[in-house]
Amino acid sequence: MLETKDLGFVYDDGTVALEGITLAIDEGEKVALVGPNGAGKSTLLHLIAGFRMPFTGKVMVSGTALDRSSADRVRRDLGFVFQDPDDQIFMPTVEEDVAFGPRNLNLDDVEGRVSMALKSAGIEHLAKRRPHRLSYGMKKRVAIAGTLAMDPKLLLMDEPTSGLDPRSRSELIRLLRNMDKTMLIATHDLEAAAEIVDRAIVLNVAPIMEGSMRDLVLAKAVLEKAGLEIPPVSKLFNVLDSMGYQVGALPVSMDQAVAELTKVIEREGRHVHAHIHEHDHAQGDSHAHKHKRASVEDLSEED
Ligand code: ADP
Repeated sequence: MLETKDLGFVYDDGTVALEGITLAIDEGEKVALVGPNGAGKSTLLHLIAGFRMPFTGKVMVSGTALDRSSADRVRRDLGFVFQDPDDQIFMPTVEEDVAFGPRNLNLDDVEGRVSMALKSAGIEHLAKRRPHRLSYGMKKRVAIAGTLAMDPKLLLMDEPTSGLDPRSRSELIRLLRNMDKTMLIATHDLEAAAEIVDRAIVLNVAPIMEGSMRDLVLAKAVLEKAGLEIPPVSKLFNVLDSMGYQVGALPVSMDQAVAELTKVIEREGRHVHAHIHEHDHAQGDSHAHKHKRASVEDLSEED
C-alpha cells in the first residue's frame, strides 16, 4: 500500500527534518508514527501526501512512485486528517463540508458517500449542524468524515487525540480502533497508539525502531533516544514486576492493563471478573443531559 525508501527532506532554511526513512505499510494495517516534537512526524506525513517536494529517496503509494507528475493521482488514494480540524472544515453545514471533497473530485454518488462517512464517524445526527459551533472532538470527527467520504485507501492522521478531553479522546480511540482502514497515525500519545495500532515506527529525524507498542515500552534506550515517556500504566506494571508479580507483557493502555491484571490475580489462585462498562447516569441526574462514564467495576472474587 505504502512504501518509502531512504526518504529524506531538508527545509529551505537548512533544517534536516528527515533522513533515511524506509518503511512499508500493508493494506489493512494500522501503524503509529511516534517520536518527540520536532521528530519529523508531520513532515513525513506531508511528504507522503505530496504536499512537499522535492525530497530525496522514494515514496510509492499503491505501486505508483510519487513525483510532480503523479502527485494529483496519488493524492486521490490518500486521506489527510490535519491536527487542527479548523484547518479542514469550512462549509456552513456538516453534510456540505463532508460532501465538499467528493464534489470537488467529481466522484459519483456524493449523497451515498456522505451518509456512509457520517455513519463511519458516528456523526449522522450532526448532518445539519454548523460545524464551527461543534465541540473540538466532534469537529475532529467531521474532518475524519470529510476524508472518509473520498474513500481513501490510506488515512494519514496528524495527532488525532491532541486537544481532546478524556471522554472525546477515548471515544475517538474506539472509533479509530474499529475502523476498517489502512492508517498511518503520527502521535506522541503512546497509550492511544497502543489501543489503535498494530505496529509502531519510532522516529527522530532518522528511524529508531519498529515493533509493537509493547516492544517499545520495554526498549528503555529507544525511549530515551526518542525523548518518549513510558505511560503511567506501564510504569505501574514495572513496579508490580519488581515486587515479584510476574507480568507477562508490559501493558501500555488501560484495556491491556485490565487484561494483564486479571491474569496476575488469577495466577495468585483467585478468580476475577473485570469489565469496563459504560454507565448511563441519566436517571436521578438533576441535569437535563445524559452523561456516560467508563469505569472498571465488578472486581468480584470467586472461590
Ligand atoms: P513533528 O511533527 O514530529 O513535531 P515536524 O515535522 O513538525 O516534527 O518538524 C520536523 C523539523 O522540521 C523540526 O526541527 C521543525 O522545527 C522543522 N520544521 C517544520 N516545519 C518547518 C518549516 N516550515 N520550515 C523550517 N523548518 C521546519
